[in-house]
Amino acid sequence: MNPLAGLIVCGVCGRKMVRRPYTNCNYPDTLMCAVTSCNNISSQLDYVEERVLQSLQQWLNNYKLTYGKQPVAASQMSIKKKALKNTQTELKALEKQRDNIYDLLEKGVYTTDVFLERSQSINDKICELQASLSKINAEIEREALTEQSQKTIIPKAEHVLSEYKKAKTAAEKNDLLKSVIEKAVYTKTVNGRWHNKPDEFELMLYPKLPTNNTNR
Ligand SMILES: [Zn+2]
Repeated sequence: MNPLAGLIVCGVCGRKMVRRPYTNCNYPDTLMCAVTSCNNISSQLDYVEERVLQSLQQWLNNYKLTYGKQPVAASQMSIKKKALKNTQTELKALEKQRDNIYDLLEKGVYTTDVFLERSQSINDKICELQASLSKINAEIEREALTEQSQKTIIPKAEHVLSEYKKAKTAAEKNDLLKSVIEKAVYTKTVNGRWHNKPDEFELMLYPKLPTNNTNR
């Protein structure tokens, strides 16, 4: 009966919000916190539903600006991955060198001055490599996320937004929303009945985001 079932979390007490049907059929359903002592103010269910869809659309627009572009070609990706491997190998070699100069100092091959100089230069190189390593890693991660988003969340969210109005039952609508939304946190502190702003509430949407480690 409730298209938002299980999706809306109370912004005051953190519990799931529930639908309260009106017995008089001229009144719309409301969405309320199940805890009677909670201060969160309920709203008309269809207002919250509308806001969920609006927020999803807004989120999708923003998300597409960042991750909506075509992923880079596979060849580009393999170049990056090769660069990553090379940098890791170089880094390992330098760390070994750093260990070696301690030996050379102990064996008296290096004077303290030579040791310090060598050690400084090796450490500088290590820092440099570590910086480029994390840069390459970030690039690869972002690419993977873009690729993943193209396959999952972006088409899914577009599908939900286009099919929602066509869905006939609350259960269908609920399934659609649940395919892309983790939860939405609802908070209303001002009572709309008295100042005539029934949709004055906050809704924080939490979409189901793709991660690098799943579905790959
Ligand atoms: Zn509550």
